Amino acid sequence: MRATAESGEAWSAERLFAGPGESQERFRKTDWSATPLGPVESWPAELRMAVRTVLPSEVPMLLWWGPQLVQLFNDAIIPVLGDKYPAAVAQPAPECWHEVWDEVGARVERAMAGTATFAEEELLFMQRHGYEEETYWTFSYSPIRDESGEVAGVFVATTDVTSRVLGERRLEALSRLGTVAITDSGMSVIETCRNALDALEPSHQDIPLAALFLDSRVVDPDDPQPNWKQLAAIGTKPDFSGSLLGPDEDQLLSKAARASEPFVVSGVAERSPDLLDPQRTLGDHPIGTILLVPLTASGHDFPLGVLAVGLSPYRVFDAAYSTFVELVATKISGLLRDASAMDAERRRADAFAALDAAKTRFLESISHEFRTPLTLLLGPLQSMLDEATTLTDAQRQSLEASQRAAIRLRRLVDALLEATRAETDPSRKPLRPTDPAALTAECVDLFTDAAQRAGLDLRSRIADAAAEQTRLDPQTWAHIVLNLLSNAIKYTPSGSIDVDLDVEDDLLVLKVADTGLGIPESELGRIFERFHRVESVGGRSQEGIGLGLSLVSDWVHTLGGSVTVSSELGHGSTFTVSVPRVLDPTSESPAGTVPGNLSAMYIGEAQQWDRVTFDEDESSTQGEDVESLPRILVIEDNADMRDYLTQLLRRQSWHVDAVGDSDAALERIRSRPPHLVLSDIMLPGRDGVELLGKIRRDPATSRLPVILLTARAGAEATIGGLRTGADDYITKPFHPDELSARVRVNLELSWLREQMLAARERESDQLKTALETRSTLSKAVGLMMATFKCDADAAFDKLVAFSQHRNVKVREIAEQIVGDYTASLSNSSG
Ligand code: ADP
Repeated sequence: MRATAESGEAWSAERLFAGPGESQERFRKTDWSATPLGPVESWPAELRMAVRTVLPSEVPMLLWWGPQLVQLFNDAIIPVLGDKYPAAVAQPAPECWHEVWDEVGARVERAMAGTATFAEEELLFMQRHGYEEETYWTFSYSPIRDESGEVAGVFVATTDVTSRVLGERRLEALSRLGTVAITDSGMSVIETCRNALDALEPSHQDIPLAALFLDSRVVDPDDPQPNWKQLAAIGTKPDFSGSLLGPDEDQLLSKAARASEPFVVSGVAERSPDLLDPQRTLGDHPIGTILLVPLTASGHDFPLGVLAVGLSPYRVFDAAYSTFVELVATKISGLLRDASAMDAERRRADAFAALDAAKTRFLESISHEFRTPLTLLLGPLQSMLDEATTLTDAQRQSLEASQRAAIRLRRLVDALLEATRAETDPSRKPLRPTDPAALTAECVDLFTDAAQRAGLDLRSRIADAAAEQTRLDPQTWAHIVLNLLSNAIKYTPSGSIDVDLDVEDDLLVLKVADTGLGIPESELGRIFERFHRVESVGGRSQEGIGLGLSLVSDWVHTLGGSVTVSSELGHGSTFTVSVPRVLDPTSESPAGTVPGNLSAMYIGEAQQWDRVTFDEDESSTQGEDVESLPRILVIEDNADMRDYLTQLLRRQSWHVDAVGDSDAALERIRSRPPHLVLSDIMLPGRDGVELLGKIRRDPATSRLPVILLTARAGAEATIGGLRTGADDYITKPFHPDELSARVRVNLELSWLREQMLAARERESDQLKTALETRSTLSKAVGLMMATFKCDADAAFDKLVAFSQHRNVKVREIAEQIVGDYTASLSNSSG
């Protein structure tokens, strides 16, 4: 090292390090003569120049000078030196940075050889805070030449970019977690746990080890003994089989789940030194601490689980690290909450599906079960009607009624079967060449009689184009038309029904319009739902289970079409069915007739609605004084049931009137008061309960005995209520003898009640007379006592003697005496 005496004197340590700041002060106090650089005064001009460049700078810079690379630096470096400072002052660089010299030494050598080098975000494991720390640096080494042109030192500009690098990669980890989607796989929670930890797989520097423990109730809400289940883990050695947290794992987890702060488990390195997968470690240091973070979620009254995170031994657990782990836990909690909600939703849906499947199976098997006995009923009934020659009219009528009832039952059973089939197998029906015009016309014809009897004008307008051979399932089409027609008649008290079949572009459009009761607007949206009925609208019959329109909708869909309804309450409804019209000009003859079983099914039912309300037949009571018989009024909308009840009651020699609805019943009660009313509850318009109310409120009929008939099984609650108003109720089906007996008992009770009331009236009349008599007698006795100047006994004896003498009652004599006296008083006063 060369230095001139003058320049050396001029550049003392005091002068060279004259600036402010901690490092300058240190350098001023440093005994440079004890360092390889020698006293400041001897330093070459290049070194002084370099010092004067580096020291005032706010950019972290170092200067390594001479063969020993003696170190000088500015204040900006002090924070990154950690506990290397102040030893780093004038320390040879290889000594100061010994733990990273393997990585940086070669670069320094290159700089000393004259080539500047640059490194960006270089990972260096540094010892500056008492542990081996993962750090990142961006730096440049530039050679500094002396006046001879030799490299005399290295100029180091460096930045500790650790927090930026860590911040970025942690953000990346969180965004990876953010992309984890909740799988709808049947085991969302378990899969989500796995996926969440998979997303953390690349974050081995921050999360070398992680495990997710779940409260077993998240997976099985009914778990009688909740416990902890480890669902996923990353970072453990493939052959690690022990429990992550040691023998007290369950207690630790329960404690951690209850804790409000993350729970620290230390001593992991001592307990399981080789826990960690070597692939995921940054070096040889084992994991010392595992952090347990509770995974809480709103809406759950217990933590869903615990996230265990093995902390990196190469990073201190500072605020940034802790925030990162907390954010990871929060994200995972959110995922688990959503996944467990998804699982709960699926469990609910599965339970509903199972219930639905059970219901479908039940309906299917019960419908099949019903069909066998129905077939056994219908077959023999038909044979009997066809073959028996000795039937009386009455017998034939009751057989026909039985047949109609059985057909109606079969239609209900078939509808149920159809509905369950449509649910389990909504596939399309095979199509075949069909003449929609002929088929529709025949459906209308089938209802002509029923419409006529009901007083309705049934019209049809079928476009010629509709007669072209089209691919359809004729049975399905007939079902649709018959169903809509049957509803139109059922719900149209008067007016007309128009059936319109037309072709619009490539659609076949059927319109069934009626001028009937209409459908309330609020009900229009639900009218095609299974089992949905519009309550209390009336109609020809209250019978029905709300399946017809839902089946129409199913059938239309199997034909690839749609059905809509427009309606105005009180004015009528129009149902419009549109199905694709695929022409099929094959030589095969088209189907155009309604299958026989279908017509029997629909027409049989319609026949019941409008057979005239019972035509009074007094045959069974011929020769008797009809007026003296108990008179019973039957109210029932089903004609067969009405007839059956009438006949049953007539056999008891009662006089029976029968009507089909409440209004007719009230009319009849007024015009010809019955002794007892037997009414169905389900009636079109005003139902049986309302009728009962009307009867009870009218003083003229309030004591009229009323028996209600109900078909609703399980309606005990309603019946409980009815009991207060009705004298009795009978559930259908009933035994005929029971019905007669109950009617008889109620008639007798009513008769007795009336008798008692009459007797009470009579008694009170007699009492009144007695009281009056007593007062007349005492008045007469008083007058006699005054006239004859005698006492009361003598006066009464005289009264008795008068009565015997005149041969009239004592009361009459007394009345006469009182009368005469009153008359004489008025004469004398007049
Ligand atoms: P149901 O067998 O009970 O008649 P549907 O499914 O055929 O069942 O009909 C459901 C409901 O829609 C009925 O309860 C009735 O109130 C209403 N409805 C159906 N067709 C008509 C119509 N043409 N006019 C008025 N209301 C109707």
